[in-house]
Amino acid sequence: MGILLQGGYVVDPVQGTVQIADVLIEGNVISRIGHALSTTGHAVRDLRDLYVLPGLIDVHVHLREPGFTNKETIETGTHAAAAGGFSRVCSMPNTSPVTDDPEIVRYIVTEAKRHGYATVHPIAAVTKGSKGEQVTNFRALHDAGAVAFSDDGRGVQSAAMMKEALLQAKTLCVPIAVHAEDELLSGHGVMHEGDVSRALGVQGIPTEAESVMIARDLLLAKATGAHVHICHVSPETAVHAIREAKRQGIHVTAEVAPHHLLLTDQAVKTLGAHAKVNPPLRSEADRTACVQGFLDGTLDIIATDHAPHTQEEKAQTIDKASNGFVGLEISFPLLYTTFVQSGLLTLAQLVMRMSSLPAQLFNLPGGRLQEGGQADLTVIDPYTTRVVNPRLFHSKGRATPFHGKSLVGWPLITYHAGHLVHDIF
Ligand SMILES: [Zn+2]
Repeated sequence: MGILLQGGYVVDPVQGTVQIADVLIEGNVISRIGHALSTTGHAVRDLRDLYVLPGLIDVHVHLREPGFTNKETIETGTHAAAAGGFSRVCSMPNTSPVTDDPEIVRYIVTEAKRHGYATVHPIAAVTKGSKGEQVTNFRALHDAGAVAFSDDGRGVQSAAMMKEALLQAKTLCVPIAVHAEDELLSGHGVMHEGDVSRALGVQGIPTEAESVMIARDLLLAKATGAHVHICHVSPETAVHAIREAKRQGIHVTAEVAPHHLLLTDQAVKTLGAHAKVNPPLRSEADRTACVQGFLDGTLDIIATDHAPHTQEEKAQTIDKASNGFVGLEISFPLLYTTFVQSGLLTLAQLVMRMSSLPAQLFNLPGGRLQEGGQADLTVIDPYTTRVVNPRLFHSKGRATPFHGKSLVGWPLITYHAGHLVHDIF
């Protein structure tokens, strides 16, 4: 007996099409996609007027395990992924111990499988302990399941170290995901350096702390021919540099986080530490450049940078609070409301930037609904307005600057490998 998802608008992000069709799930695969499929012997779900998408893919999340299970666990983080419509996520290696050992990579993959909410593709550390001193064993980590390398949370300060890492990544045909931050330039800054930081009298992080390292790594990508993927781009100067690098044919891709598309440093005035994130929310000119870069494809994909912390860690003053907020459970409705409802992107275009393109950039399976493919799919309700309510999150992290925002485009149902993992329909 299969599950027949009947009459929904099925989105193909690769073809850019949306068509009414039935989708039949048998076991853990999609066995048929077609019109008026036979219902005999199947459990039928009527999805008329709803959108059926491939399971979304997020290449930048912090699952915090091993080590920081008070912030999040693989179980709660992947449950949050399922609730947000994500079937695959890449976990960042700033765990404790740091994900710099094949044993930890295997643990993360196995633990995610055991819970079954979503597939986790670990990103392993570029340097041992992410200390920037010695490159990890890329081949062993890749063999264990790592799909990319990053010292996310910190920038790799030495250009020579980054060059060595890029040369190794190139032999494995995997990207290095760059957290760009020159630590001497960012200093003790806690928010974007600008009028707001000056008015509040707090230390700022100048845009060049980020853009200088991005420029360096674009040049290293050119020198080595390796694939550099720039994480959570925030400054206007960086968007211009990446656009120019792409024009030159350098192998660079980039992600942007929903908060850098939607918010500016003004949010710190009202939200304080709940608007503290690294890289910080920047100026309106930076935000506009990120939107333009996202619309023209300079910034290829959306990544949430889901970064859960305990309530105590976020309830501090801005100079002491932890950086980051959760994003998995609200990012699709945020972007659907902002870009699709307003007509800036088609639904298929947004889905492409959150499924098939991330899969392509990180060499992952999925990202498309196909007969014979794993049954990872998500059903979206384009009509009902719901308010962001962190109390309903499955993530342990509750901090979001979007608390109370009214959005449409919420995921109602998620299947992962043929299993129903989220259902509020
Ligand atoms: Zn980062």
